[in-house]
Amino acid sequence: MSKANIHPEFQKGMNLLLGKVEYQEFELALEEESPTTIRLNPYKIEESPYEGKPIPWAPLGYSLEKRPAFTLDPLFHAGAYYVQESSSMFISEVLLQLQVPKGIFLDLAAAPGGKSTLLSTYLGHEGLLVANEVIQSRNTILKENLIKWGLGNSVITNNDPAHFQDLEGFFDLVLIDAPCSGEGMFRKDPEARKEWSPDHVRLCAGRQQRILDQAGGLVKGGGYLIYSTCTFNHQENEEMIRFLTSEFAYEPVRINLDPAWQIEESSIESEEGTFFGYRFYPHRVMGEGFFISILKRPDDAYCQEPKKKKDFKHQFLKLVDEKACQTLDEELGFENSQFYLLNDSYFRFPQMWKTHFEQILQSLNIRYFGIEIGKKQKNEWIPSHDWAVSIFPKKGFSTQEVSREEALEFLRKNDQELNFEKLGWILLTYQNLALGWVKNLGNRVNNYYPKDWRIRNL
Ligand code: SAM
Repeated sequence: MSKANIHPEFQKGMNLLLGKVEYQEFELALEEESPTTIRLNPYKIEESPYEGKPIPWAPLGYSLEKRPAFTLDPLFHAGAYYVQESSSMFISEVLLQLQVPKGIFLDLAAAPGGKSTLLSTYLGHEGLLVANEVIQSRNTILKENLIKWGLGNSVITNNDPAHFQDLEGFFDLVLIDAPCSGEGMFRKDPEARKEWSPDHVRLCAGRQQRILDQAGGLVKGGGYLIYSTCTFNHQENEEMIRFLTSEFAYEPVRINLDPAWQIEESSIESEEGTFFGYRFYPHRVMGEGFFISILKRPDDAYCQEPKKKKDFKHQFLKLVDEKACQTLDEELGFENSQFYLLNDSYFRFPQMWKTHFEQILQSLNIRYFGIEIGKKQKNEWIPSHDWAVSIFPKKGFSTQEVSREEALEFLRKNDQELNFEKLGWILLTYQNLALGWVKNLGNRVNNYYPKDWRIRNL
């Protein structure tokens, strides 16, 4: 093992990929500091709150001059931006270049939610995202990030890829951001260097092959599959595309690259034709290591249309009837909503995706969907935090702008003396972005920031 904890077999493989001279540049780049990059939530903020340079392949991405203390920025907690390494943001270039229709997308390996928030932004009010994470504990952070992002256009599921078998030909786009050996994270995460071994690469490749085998058929005719990893080796990348195309009918997709981006195109020869992959090396691009390949399902491949059901039956969820949905929409200032009730709490879901959602409900473990609005008791709303930070109107509630210090005290869930003119629920905002609710009882003010999300020890 070298001084920098780099495995000799990894060095050998990278020397073959890059050549001896360029490998030296690559190894030097691993000792540099990682760039700090953020992607804005255009539904919440228009300009970057920090000085920085735009990321050339991501219109909402910025590379910051220095790393701010994000935890002490109320805008970070309000879901105004997501801290994401910039190579991954290339997915927005792919979506825009291909003009991928805004339909139903699946992010199969979604936690903590970097790419899910990107897909959710792209889909906006038109599409639906199914953000799936197999590891239960990682669902918590995925849910928190999507709730803060606030668009209400996703369903969060907790399933193994094998559980999707009933949803063949169902999705317009499937993203498989596969668990991998993490070579591209050697700079950001020194632990990844220690964990690397040829056996680990083999193990990851075996797992990736299983995932592709289970997910390759989920894309509908004319739809797209995006396969990505944060690793460089051929076994986990090119070999996987060869496997996928030998098992399922796919057509190649080539992305136009600006040479200034220094992204490397790889031609993947397979029996089915020449496919393309794109590699991001940390010594060439302002980002971490990344690999991405995009494939298109032939137009005549199977498409599954969800079946409309007469009656809605579910163990826990109750459907709110059409008339009651219209009344709620008028009352709340929403549009085209389908509401469901779960333990007396209302969830708002985009009406246009109701049939798809109800089909998904039959085969997957749903952890969250749309936006939880809250409970209605004696004609009064007990609003949820999720509603507060969502982009949806909060008709009828008072709002109050607070200073940065007051915002941070609120986010620490500390009690503080704030003067309000009105009693009852008050939405606190910072730079006009919602942070959450307080309730003014007259003699005291209760802080309703979620306990698990509070800022600790700062
Ligand atoms: N897409 C995420 C993002 O942008 O924030 C990062 C995903 S990470 C590279 C890979 C994810 O795959 C992890 O969250 C991991 O828990 C999940 N995973 C692990 N084993 C898996 C399996 N067998 N099938 C599907 N996902 C798996």
